[in-house]
Amino acid sequence: MQVIFFSSKTYDRQFFQSDNQHHSHELYFLDVPLHTGTASLATNYQAVCIFVNDVANKEVIQQLADVGVKLIALRCAGYNNVDLAAAAQAGIQVVRVPAYSPYSVAEHTLALILTLNRKTHRAYNRVKEGNFSLNGLMGFDLHGKTVGLIGLGKIGKVTAQILKGFGCQVLGYDVATDQECEQMGVVYSSLDEIYTQSDIISLHCPLTPQTRHLINRNAIAKMKRGVMLINTSRGALIDTPDVIEALKTEHIGYLGLDVYEEEADLFFEDLSEKVIQDDIFMRLLSFPNVLITGHQAFFTRNALQGIAQVTLQNISDFEQQKALVNAVR
Ligand code: NAD
Repeated sequence: MQVIFFSSKTYDRQFFQSDNQHHSHELYFLDVPLHTGTASLATNYQAVCIFVNDVANKEVIQQLADVGVKLIALRCAGYNNVDLAAAAQAGIQVVRVPAYSPYSVAEHTLALILTLNRKTHRAYNRVKEGNFSLNGLMGFDLHGKTVGLIGLGKIGKVTAQILKGFGCQVLGYDVATDQECEQMGVVYSSLDEIYTQSDIISLHCPLTPQTRHLINRNAIAKMKRGVMLINTSRGALIDTPDVIEALKTEHIGYLGLDVYEEEADLFFEDLSEKVIQDDIFMRLLSFPNVLITGHQAFFTRNALQGIAQVTLQNISDFEQQKALVNAVR
């Protein structure tokens, strides 16, 4: 099948070209993101392959349908950037990669927690400059702390497993219950219980109309003073101005983000020579207790292999008119 990739990077090409030996699709890689200004580039392609910040809203989907696209293959798990109703109406199928190394994101979540706590990023720079002072580097034992996980799907569950290994008490909130989580000792709790009891809160639910700005001033008001908040899921789960207010009053003691609501204008590009215009993002960067990574939680060799394998299999299944096990409807 002829497949056009939007927002592709060198590493995407490497893993997709390697796995395509098993499929022989015709792959065409573009750097530009998908939006109304670029959708026409998909002319003569039956499938488009997109990533987290590509825009597949109603207008774009209509444009894709008009140029003959039949399949949107997301090379990621989340699908909040696709208007599924518009796709169904336009006769375009949508597939995704529901599971690729949940370890990648769960382990990055722990990297954020441990770095914020033990300040290894600051220690690294200090030691390089011959400064061996420990002032300002004091952390806390993770052992015995209460961690609240919102969303106990594949990533939330692995995060719970790792935290259990650290000796944490793990509270969990999800719209569904999972036996494995219960068996490993995750205590299913209400959102209010998570907010009031947790020393660390980590978000692992999808972005939906119900979860948009879940973490806002009302939720923060219920949290322990000095709470650590971690978001490796989707930026818009958090109301960023409300979080900034809580950082200023020190109600939030630590913030670790791998995602940001307005990340589409920033992440995955080298902007080191540019003036960043997003004042909210720059304010976040100004806090010493905020650690931001640029949507890299998924970025392991294992995950990229898994993403390429599943995406190309999804495309082959579509081509061969097989059941689409990873369809999103
Ligand atoms: P998953 O579908 O396995 O799990 C999501 C869980 O959230 C499910 O158990 C579901 O029941 C629960 N959920 C749904 N609505 C909820 C709500 N309103 N409140 C609480 N829980 C709710 O997905 P996953 O693979 O664990 O991924 C979780 C999220 O992580 C994805 O949606 C995606 O946004 C994000 N993600 C980020 C990266 C990254 O690189 N930063 C990579 C992959 C996934």
